[in-house]
Amino acid sequence: MKTIGLLGGMSWESSIEYERLINTEVRRRLGGTHSADLLVRSYDFAAIEELQERADWDAAGALLAADAAALEVAGADLILLCTNTMHRVAPAIEAAISVPFLHIADATAAAVGRAGVQRVALLGTRYTMEEDFYRGRLSDHGLEVSVPDEAGRDLVHRVIFDELVRGEVRADSRLEFIGIIERLVADGADGVIAGCTEIELLVTPDDVPYRYFPTTALHAMAAVDAALDR
Ligand code: GLU
Repeated sequence: MKTIGLLGGMSWESSIEYERLINTEVRRRLGGTHSADLLVRSYDFAAIEELQERADWDAAGALLAADAAALEVAGADLILLCTNTMHRVAPAIEAAISVPFLHIADATAAAVGRAGVQRVALLGTRYTMEEDFYRGRLSDHGLEVSVPDEAGRDLVHRVIFDELVRGEVRADSRLEFIGIIERLVADGADGVIAGCTEIELLVTPDDVPYRYFPTTALHAMAAVDAALDR
């Protein structure tokens, strides 16, 4: 079994889901007392959030790249970045390591494609919904991507930063998210990507009667596939 390096803490609310899902799946596949072989670097998210707000992507990229390289030196055979947003700096990370980097948008697009969905809506932080690093990557996989309107993007971003990364999961916010998802589907989306690793803590696949793609779970499963060479 390969060693998986996790760049996490962005936020830890979702990183612990990565650990739980990866370990659960390794036990399911290998049985007995097996669990995953992990190396974890978990940040103080406040420092990362500050870099995002300052749009200091160079500093953020240098930080994550150095730690990805350190995980490789420590024995990681593959690297996961446990946040959609920080894939904004994926090229810096990939340039710093020689082991595979499993891009979260690739794992997600593969699942969307397997489901036969082509027109997909994307929920995430403003960075993820509005900039090209994520939408463009999905488009490269042949997907047509829509996002909520300005007010919807505002609400989704605010709930992520004011609630979800602080460990607050509120029923009223869940209802607001479901309303936004319903509008996106009414506007033509055939499926919805929970493109922020905390969103699936708020809206689970059971909460919506649509094809729903939870990026944390999909990314974690891709990591297990890679670690077990499946
Ligand atoms: N975990 C989130 C994501 O997947 C948001 C936190 C962050 O900005 O990194 O985008």
